[in-house]
Amino acid sequence: MVPLPDYDEMLLKLRSELSTSTEKPQEERLEIPKPQVLWVGNKTFLRNFMEYPRAFRRDPDQVLLFLAKELATAASMDGDRAIFIGRRNPDSFRVLFERYVKAAVICPVCGRPDTHLEKSKRLQFLVCEACGARSPAKFS
Ligand SMILES: [Zn+2]
Repeated sequence: MVPLPDYDEMLLKLRSELSTSTEKPQEERLEIPKPQVLWVGNKTFLRNFMEYPRAFRRDPDQVLLFLAKELATAASMDGDRAIFIGRRNPDSFRVLFERYVKAAVICPVCGRPDTHLEKSKRLQFLVCEACGARSPAKFS
């Protein structure tokens, strides 16, 4: 007689294998770089601007447009830097990037940052590569 495999033991083994390959799916957080700000005259230089679109996997122009809109000022790119008219605190950038991530990067269904934006007609969707959810983006 062949002994039956211990089902519970198998399940436990499977679970532990799964949990090591996908670590803490709910707690995965996107690391938002610290804003490096420099003031010259009445201009604000965000020296590490390019780190943000890279971290978010978004179009730099789109990220810059979002910042300019939210700050209600003119903005331009200069290499890796972004230049804004008016003096802005690192904190105001930090708050805006957090807002951007919530609205246009984090999947509202599973909370993961592995997403991209898709345009269909006049709407923008946040498409999640982890769970496949398509959610309307909260800003354009
Ligand atoms: Zn998702």
